[in-house]
Amino acid sequence: MTSSALSETATLDAAALRADFPILQQEVNGQPLVYLDSAATSQKPRQVLQAEYDFLTRSNAAVHRGAHTLAAEATDLFEDARATVARFVGARPEQLVWTSGATLGLNLVAYAISNATTGRGAPASARFALAPGDEILTTETEHHANLIPWQELAARTGAVLRHIPVRDDGTLDLDAAGGLVGERTRILAFSHVSNVLGIVNPVSELVDLARSVGALTVMDACQSAPHLRLDLPALGVDLAVFSGHKMLGPYGIGGLYGRSEVLEALPPFLTGGSMITTVTLDDAGYLPPPQRFEAGTQPIGPAIGLAAAVRYLDDVGLAAVHAHEARLAARMRDGLVGVPGIRLLGDAPGAERVGLWAFEVAGVHAHDAGQFLDAQGIAVRVGHHCAAPLHRRFGMTASVRASAALYNTEADVDAFLDAVSGIRDYFGANA
Ligand code: PMP
Repeated sequence: MTSSALSETATLDAAALRADFPILQQEVNGQPLVYLDSAATSQKPRQVLQAEYDFLTRSNAAVHRGAHTLAAEATDLFEDARATVARFVGARPEQLVWTSGATLGLNLVAYAISNATTGRGAPASARFALAPGDEILTTETEHHANLIPWQELAARTGAVLRHIPVRDDGTLDLDAAGGLVGERTRILAFSHVSNVLGIVNPVSELVDLARSVGALTVMDACQSAPHLRLDLPALGVDLAVFSGHKMLGPYGIGGLYGRSEVLEALPPFLTGGSMITTVTLDDAGYLPPPQRFEAGTQPIGPAIGLAAAVRYLDDVGLAAVHAHEARLAARMRDGLVGVPGIRLLGDAPGAERVGLWAFEVAGVHAHDAGQFLDAQGIAVRVGHHCAAPLHRRFGMTASVRASAALYNTEADVDAFLDAVSGIRDYFGANA
């Protein structure tokens, strides 16, 4: 990264940053690549690859147990990475559990609650036990990863699912939410930012609502962690998850943040090596968090790579990243609303957003639109984006989603808009 790309102010030089992302230098289908699919997975800067390479070529060893020098070095790097990523989300190291990603983090929580329900865990775990008729509240906007684990937990425990509705403009209906919360509400699971609507949800209102009835809050921060400065303890959520690969980091690594009091009381999900105190043939004692939730050999290289990714984001500055992406989102919106036949999802006036828009093109299937854009080197996502109930709510089965990151430029957005304006003509939908 050149020094001109780095700034403490709310500006960044995306064109300069791009030098750090080798993949963006190429042509696709004979056109310069315009990568607008970062909500699915982000591209990774050289610094992340280098951190993993350095670890694997200089310090690779299994952590925590070894008596040798490399094992000690690897342990230091691994735990430094935890401290770095924890700090990035405002947390202390012991409040950050490594997971393979958000999906595992959410399943971990749901299965830990299941285990508490069957009487496993310390006496403190009993507070999480669910009884038939207890309620788990999610929202209509959730990614399947923040929906299906709760469906399964409800099926295992006899709990009942409720859903906060979404308004036509993409905002959550908090009036309805107030009516859905009651003394049986035990869990409120919601996303910080929906991966389809791009709107930042009102976390403090949701947390207050849950707290008013003593419900546990679980926040899916997948789509906020790469774009907004997060202070998870200040947001007041009990638990939160994120995926490294969406925030410039490697695949196979992510985080589960928990308030200490909550993590200490939760029983484990996966069990095995590295998470125990003493073991007999019939019984085992478990380590405190975060190790209690990290059974087996961990993805050490990816954790070190994720630390390099969040250092990169920190060097650029989250304020600058957010401001840049907000400018790109506004430019995208201005262009898209001017194209006949485009229907935007979640176009709530004045809503705080990240840099993504999902939309429908009248008379053209999302997959056709996606292929048309791809032929021009423009990478977007098409389908239900793992949020089928949300699409059904808006009367559609699929949408096109363009999602920006810090390395996108105004030229990317303009190339995208220019191509989008040709979709309906190409498919004869204007006829
Ligand atoms: N939640 C949201 C809002 C997401 O966008 C995604 C990824 N599309 C996930 C959860 C799941 O993340 P992962 O596949 O990395 O576990």
